[in-house]
Amino acid sequence: MKIAFNNVVKNYGSVNALNGVSFTIKPSEFVFLVGSSGAGKSTLIKLLLAQIKPSSGEININDQDLNSFRKKELDEHRRKIGVIFQDYQLIVDKTIEENIALALDISGYPQNQIKSRIDEVTTLVNLHHRQNQFPSQLSGGELQRAALARALAPNPEVILADEPTGNLDNENSWNLLRLFKKINQKFGTTILMTTHNQDFIDSLKYRTIIIDDGLIVKDLPTKES
Ligand code: ADP
Repeated sequence: MKIAFNNVVKNYGSVNALNGVSFTIKPSEFVFLVGSSGAGKSTLIKLLLAQIKPSSGEININDQDLNSFRKKELDEHRRKIGVIFQDYQLIVDKTIEENIALALDISGYPQNQIKSRIDEVTTLVNLHHRQNQFPSQLSGGELQRAALARALAPNPEVILADEPTGNLDNENSWNLLRLFKKINQKFGTTILMTTHNQDFIDSLKYRTIIIDDGLIVKDLPTKES
């Protein structure tokens, strides 16, 4: 999926959350989105999911204006995006397997392939042995890997991760980041991740968009290593 923001402004009443933001993300790119609290990161993610609309400017998905999408196209667009949050957002009274099955069911995944797909993604995130357990039985690192498995299961083109390591210790944060890297390389999934972790940014050399007060102040390209 090619994503282009073209001079996007978003106001909430008198609050200017985004003040004219332009960037393009190519299919299969890995991008860190960095900015302090209130900078506009979540607003950008919500715009991309079409949960809110820009006040002005345009968001183009594969060169088509997102604002022109009808319900069917919007549903298709959202199905191409897997989302992960800082607080996991797993359903607490369902097992990991059931959580992933629900996501697959909603995405219209072929019923007779759901079980094997769950096995595949839980193996990928090293949770195959825990898939019959409930969220309350898992550690923070395991919960976030389960949330990643759920986001990845329907084969999204893009994974949006909003501070996914915000509640994790250093070791679990790196484990998760290595998985994101693997998914990006192996499946060509576009990754857009908001983070405060400067070590990630320095170590991985991926493109880094820095946003401050609703404006992009830096857009540092992926460094060749
Ligand atoms: P970040 O994710 O970088 O912390 P946000 O996108 O959540 O930033 O917020 C950007 C600005 O917009 C902040 O000033 C925030 O207070 C404001 N804001 C976000 N959502 C709303 C809302 N629903 N109503 C009013 N103001 C909002």
